[in-house]
Amino acid sequence: RGKVLGRNCVCPFQTEDMQDIEDRTVMGGLLREAVQAGELMLQYQPQFSASDMRLSGFESLLRWSSPLLGDVAPDRFIPIAEGLGLIREIGDWVIREACRQIRLWLDAGYTGFTIAVNVSPQQLRRAGLHRAVADALQEFRVPGHMLEIELTESSVLENLVRVKDELRRLKALGTLLTLDDFGTGHSSLAYLKHFAWDKLKIDQSFVRGLPHSVLDASVSRAILTLGRDLGLRVAAEGVETTSQADFLRDLGCDELQGYLMGQPAPADAAQVHFKAIRA
Ligand code: C2E
Ligand code: MG
Ligand code: MG
Ligand code: MG
Repeated sequence: RGKVLGRNCVCPFQTEDMQDIEDRTVMGGLLREAVQAGELMLQYQPQFSASDMRLSGFESLLRWSSPLLGDVAPDRFIPIAEGLGLIREIGDWVIREACRQIRLWLDAGYTGFTIAVNVSPQQLRRAGLHRAVADALQEFRVPGHMLEIELTESSVLENLVRVKDELRRLKALGTLLTLDDFGTGHSSLAYLKHFAWDKLKIDQSFVRGLPHSVLDASVSRAILTLGRDLGLRVAAEGVETTSQADFLRDLGCDELQGYLMGQPAPADAAQVHFKAIRA
């Protein structure tokens, strides 16, 4: 930030940086209140088994509607929440809310689905994520295997011992562990064998170029081969076209998620995807 704060600075990005700092300050302040004020909600995006296109579950995606700022995208406010140490409280809310929704859908007669939550590195760094998960599962009488925890590679790279212990405890609760955005982080294949992953999620940046991009096709193929050899399920996110879906299915991808099949939506709207199960 020397560019902004330094004297006599004639930097073409100065105003942009000032704007950025202002954004963060304002947003951070509002974000502190957002949980209590009930401004956060989860949307649910359906995930389908690739072989028969039956619903397998949903990914929960956090939404913030601020009365002052309007709708703010998670890619903007989550890094700020992480920087301000607010992500733990927010993350606990997400876990609880997802479990509450699983219970609501179970009570409505729906079964055989999972809900995935995204978990930030900071949440994992705190010893005791498993406590928040255990409490939420218990409060809403949700079986652990219905909750899926999505982590990114950067979460597990640091503090290997702590993380390993935390994941072992989450595993003991029965929750499913998914490595999100696979291939975009500092992928060390060694980390794959250190943890009891259930699923790898091919990042949408690789799905985008399918089936024509030679590079995206070979990365996807490599991840699918790796997943199969390690006995893991492989999911793909960001599937927007039938040719992408066909390509992934033909290569043995287990699950598909993307705008082609369904957008993230509030629970009552997302619920329509259960019809496929009941029919
Ligand atoms: P992610 O976990 O990789 O989630 C997938 C993102 O791709 C979501 O963006 C989703 O809306 C979007 N998406 C789904 N299908 C398609 C598609 O077919 N095409 C395209 N172009 N995009 C698609 P979203 O909802 O804006 O979330 C962005 C990121 O914010 C997430 O990436 C995740 O890293 C983070 N995030 C979201 N909710 C939470 C949360 O509750 N906690 C934490 N810690 N992070 C979250
Ligand atoms: Mg995710
Ligand atoms: Mg992802
Ligand atoms: Mg992603």
